Amino acid sequence: MTDFSITRTAFHIPDGVIYLDGNSLGPVPLAAEQRAREVIGREWGEMLITAWNRAGWMDMPRRVGDRIARLIGAAPGTVVMGDTLSIKVYQALAAALDLRPDRKVVLSDSGNFPTDLYMAQGLLRSLNRGHELRVVAPEEVEDAISEDVAAVMLTEVDYRTGRMHDMAALTRKAHEVGALTLWDLAHSAGALPVDLAGAGADFATGCTYKYLNGGPGAPAFIYIRPDLAEQVEPALSGWLGHEAPFAFDPDYRPGRGIERMRVGTPPVIQLAILDAALDVWDGVDMHDLRRRSIELTERFIAGVEGECPGLALVSPRDPARRGSQVSFAFEEGYAAMQALISRGVIGDFRAPDVMRFGFAPLYVGEDDVDRAVRILAEIIATSGWDKPEFRRRSAVT
Ligand SMILES: *Cc1c(COP(=O)(O)O)cnc(C)c1O
Repeated sequence: MTDFSITRTAFHIPDGVIYLDGNSLGPVPLAAEQRAREVIGREWGEMLITAWNRAGWMDMPRRVGDRIARLIGAAPGTVVMGDTLSIKVYQALAAALDLRPDRKVVLSDSGNFPTDLYMAQGLLRSLNRGHELRVVAPEEVEDAISEDVAAVMLTEVDYRTGRMHDMAALTRKAHEVGALTLWDLAHSAGALPVDLAGAGADFATGCTYKYLNGGPGAPAFIYIRPDLAEQVEPALSGWLGHEAPFAFDPDYRPGRGIERMRVGTPPVIQLAILDAALDVWDGVDMHDLRRRSIELTERFIAGVEGECPGLALVSPRDPARRGSQVSFAFEEGYAAMQALISRGVIGDFRAPDVMRFGFAPLYVGEDDVDRAVRILAEIIATSGWDKPEFRRRSAVT
C-alpha cells in the first residue's frame, strides 16, 4: 500500500496553502533544490564540459524517459525527454502522417488543449498536401473514426472538464480502420494509471510540470510504439536524434528507436530537477493513487454540491470517466477563484466560467478537501467574491 502521508512530506507547500492546482504546475519537491545545486556546483561547476560524459548528461533524456515509462505503462527504451509538449505533439503527428501518406484527415476533438490543435494546424499548413484537421465533439469521436483518418489525435483527460476518453477502445477502433493514434497524457501522467502498451497506443506525448512536479518549463516526453519507432522519419531531424551525432556527418540518419525523437541539446538542469521529482514515485502504486484520487474528488464534489448553491458540476459524475480534477461552472467563477486564492485555496480558472480544482494524492488529503469546501462555501454564501480586486484579470489565469 502506498503511504500518502509520507509522499506528502516530499514537497514544500507554503504554510496556510491548500494547493489544488498541481494539474497546472506541481509544487516544489524538497529534493529538487539540492539536486539542482549539485548539478550546478559539482557537475557544471567542477567538471565543466566533461560532465556530458562523466556526469551522464548525454544519457539523461533516455534515463529519465525510462522512469516516466513505468508510470505510463510503456516498456523501457520507448520514451525520451526533451523540448516542450507543443513540440512533441508536432513531432508525433508529423510521424503519424508520414506513416499514412494516402490519408488526409487528422481527427481531434473540441475538448483538446488549443496548443495541440494549433500545432496540428501549423504542421498541416507547412506540409501543404491537402490535409484536413477534423474537430468533433468529444462524445462523437468514436463514430468519426473512419477510413479516411490518418491519425486520431486526442488528449486523454480534458484539461477543462476532466472528462476521460477510453484510450483502449478508441485505439482499437482506430486500428480497425487503419488509423494511428496520438495520445496526449498531459493530465494523465502522474494522475492515473496509463497503459500505453496494453492499449496499443501508437504515439504518446506529455508534459512533466503538472502531476509529475518537474517545475516550470520541465521537458516533455514522447513515446512511440516500439515496433513503429524504426519506421519513423523525424520531421525535426536534429543532430541529437542522429545515429551518430559526433560523426558530424552532413546528412541526417535517424538514431536508434525512440532516440530519433531527440532534437537538440537537452535541458540538463531541468532534467536533473525532474529526476529528483520522480524519486517520490518509486514508492507509489498507480492503482493506489487512483483509488485515493477518486476518494478525494468524490468528497469534494459531495461537499461543494451540498454547500455551494449556484455552482454546477461540469466534470463527469462517474469517477471512472473522470481524471484527477473537478470543475464547477459559476458565473462569477473568475472572481470567486481570486477570492479563494486570497484565502489560501489555490485552484484556477478557465474561460468562460470554469473553476478548476486538481487533486494530487501525493500531497492533498481529506483535511485539505474539507477546508477548501468550507472556505468556498463561505465565499459563495457571503458573495465574498464581489470586490473590484477579485475582478481584475491577470495575464495568466
Ligand atoms: C498543459 C498542456 C500543454 C502545454 O504545452 P507546452 O508546450 O508544455 O506549453 C499542451 N497540451 C495539453 C493537452 C496540455 O494540457
